[in-house]
Amino acid sequence: MNHPSPGQKRALAVRQVEQVLPGRPTHDGAGVKLLRVYSYSPDLNLDPFLMLDEFATDEASDYIGGFPDHPHRGFETVTYMLDGRMLHQDHMGNRGDLGPGDVQWMTAGRGVIHSEMPQQTEGRMHGFQLWINLPSGEKMCPPAYRDIPSPSMPMVDLLDGSGTVKVIAGTYSNGLDPISGPLQGMTTAPKMFDVQMGAHGQFLEPLTPGHTAFVYVYEGEALVGDERIGARHLAVLGDGDCVQVTSLEGDTRFLVLSAAPIGEPVVQYGPFVMNTREEIEQAVRHYQTGKF
Ligand code: MN
Repeated sequence: MNHPSPGQKRALAVRQVEQVLPGRPTHDGAGVKLLRVYSYSPDLNLDPFLMLDEFATDEASDYIGGFPDHPHRGFETVTYMLDGRMLHQDHMGNRGDLGPGDVQWMTAGRGVIHSEMPQQTEGRMHGFQLWINLPSGEKMCPPAYRDIPSPSMPMVDLLDGSGTVKVIAGTYSNGLDPISGPLQGMTTAPKMFDVQMGAHGQFLEPLTPGHTAFVYVYEGEALVGDERIGARHLAVLGDGDCVQVTSLEGDTRFLVLSAAPIGEPVVQYGPFVMNTREEIEQAVRHYQTGKF
């Protein structure tokens, strides 16, 4: 055992990459082309994260079909647009029109039936959808929405001046001058940052030890800890005190995500994510009999 003497500061342990997941081209909804970066399986569980998709295309035919009416139960969906417009409409009459830079944080809870449809017939569509699980006690909560327009998310200069951090969820330490994003107070305490930096920049941020964390590089190339990660690859981080990302020659953009693991059984059937098979059967029954 190595006991640091009183007053001696222990060096921060940088989280290192444990696994690299390449985005895999697929399609979902009504023929929308996307990259499935991560998807929960019993062998690959980034608890509480369930899924990450990136959609990025200039071809209308890749996105025009959108995501017509479909249900969700038992978790949260986070949609983050970079380019293009997407309209969300659900069975309770909620509407949310997402434009470039906007975020919609939807707690599906006991059930939402909604559509997510592009509001353009040409031009670029680029964004992400992330699914985050809910603990058993919140899976049947009433659905809730947080529509967050881009200007209400803080855009903070990196300490070395190499770029910016958009603080979407949780608090960014910003050295010793913390800056909170609009999304706070969730049981899983998610942090979500969108970072862009020029060449040879550094992003260094404390993350709660024990929380699940990953970095998704979506443009350029960077060192995550000591490992080189190319565009459209997700780096799963091992445990430690902080995440460190260093950009190489060009512009680099990446998402940083962390959250507290829930540690409960996950039973997923498409858009329903519950704890037991019986709860899944109930969800299917409720959906089929119009009880959402
Ligand atoms: Mn959906």
